Amino acid sequence: MQLNHRYATELAETVSAVKPQPLSGMTMPMYNHELAAQFNLPDRDQLMAAIFDDGGELAAKSVAQKYGGHQFGQWNPFLGDGRGLLLGEVSDTHGNHFDLHLKGAGQTPYSRHADGRAVLRSTLREYIASEALHYLRIPTSRALCLITSEQSIVRELPEPGAMMIRMASSHLRFGHFEYYYHNKQQDTLDKLMQYTLTHHFPECLQDANPHKALLTAITLRTARMVALWQAYGFVHGVMNTDNMSIHGITFDYGPYAFIEHFQSDAVFNHSDYEGRYAFDRQPGIALWNLNALAYAFSGHLSTDDIRACLTLFEPTFLSQYRHQMLSRIGLDDNPEHENCLNTWLSLLSAEKRDYTESFRQLAMAEPQQPTSPLRDQFVDREAFDKWWQDYRQRRLATGISANELSQLNPVVIPRTHYLQSAIEAAEQGDFSPAHRLMDAIRQPFDDNEVTRDFKKPGPASSQGSLSCSS
Ligand code: AMP
Ligand code: MG
Repeated sequence: MQLNHRYATELAETVSAVKPQPLSGMTMPMYNHELAAQFNLPDRDQLMAAIFDDGGELAAKSVAQKYGGHQFGQWNPFLGDGRGLLLGEVSDTHGNHFDLHLKGAGQTPYSRHADGRAVLRSTLREYIASEALHYLRIPTSRALCLITSEQSIVRELPEPGAMMIRMASSHLRFGHFEYYYHNKQQDTLDKLMQYTLTHHFPECLQDANPHKALLTAITLRTARMVALWQAYGFVHGVMNTDNMSIHGITFDYGPYAFIEHFQSDAVFNHSDYEGRYAFDRQPGIALWNLNALAYAFSGHLSTDDIRACLTLFEPTFLSQYRHQMLSRIGLDDNPEHENCLNTWLSLLSAEKRDYTESFRQLAMAEPQQPTSPLRDQFVDREAFDKWWQDYRQRRLATGISANELSQLNPVVIPRTHYLQSAIEAAEQGDFSPAHRLMDAIRQPFDDNEVTRDFKKPGPASSQGSLSCSS
């Protein structure tokens, strides 16, 4: 393992040294062999020892990071790693650096009287979803391992305590930069920016204005990520600025869900009373968050420069979204097809059809046929038939095969009801449903005997609302 501690060393004034606190009766039922191999990481037992044994390599310089964040639109300076620790950074043979971050490791100076712990339910949800997005080719943090325990953690009810190791290029959030800006620590902010440029965006240092290049890069990456969320029906649920990564990766999974019964204003987080983080508000919120981040650049950039960066968001998002969506239905990226796409979405929304299943069925449909068996999925067959006549001509002109299209339209997404079954079994000590779900999640585009068990939509009630408590 090539371990280093660049963040803890170079930005020592922004962290607190904290050791991971074990839970009683810990085991590691989930371990990501592929990711571990990429970074030449120790096996399960050695990994546990490196974190929790006296003198363990991964506890030698573990730190909690300080950050703030806009939560539901309100500035909160009191945030930071309240239960997570940066254990260190590792690199692979290609020189990619990734953080090892342990979530649920016990209290830190930023815990604000909370217990510093995470429950099995939320840890397993993050583990599975982050890997699912990775295999759907949506930028995301990764999951290295899940540690469960015999110790109870009290939320609404007692639940098994757990931890996970998350990996990402860094754990730098919009809220890191916002914190040093709002706290008027310009020297520390400058250092943080320089660190970010040097270690994470070195290509921006070649630019005549590296800070402008940095804000531009974050804007473009965020726009691309959200375009993929919208294209695949992913609802993050808590897009607070402390949950936004500067790398434009999906980060800090909480009450997320993939939309099943399609509804463009879907909200699954039951604490989101006003629907601030509804599915169709995600692009606007991402821009709101970028705007909040941009204040931190005001010591380096003029208002015009900042505006120039942020105005890139909308056209980038729209073109990426259109490209993704038209690709998914087998049409060229041509504005002339937009009406056809929008009518398809209206058909799905009018009958709350399952989003993922409908796209897959459409991908596999045969445009040579004047009537499609897909019509039987719709109550309003007349509306479907009318649309099909228009669509099939366009798709025939494009000439893409169902086989190619299948690779853009997953069979498997982490549906709430399968997650729930996997959680319930895991809470009883049986991780086999979680492993089977993971086997399917790793090959989401293939319809085979592994994925077949995980493709059914849940009942409409299964997606009701998800708790933020974790
Ligand atoms: P989250 O909702 O997980 O994004 O967390 C928001 C903030 O609350 C972060 O600063 C977390 O570190 C902190 N936090 C969440 N849960 C806990 C907990 N059980 N103990 C300590 N801090 C927590
Ligand atoms: Mg968070």
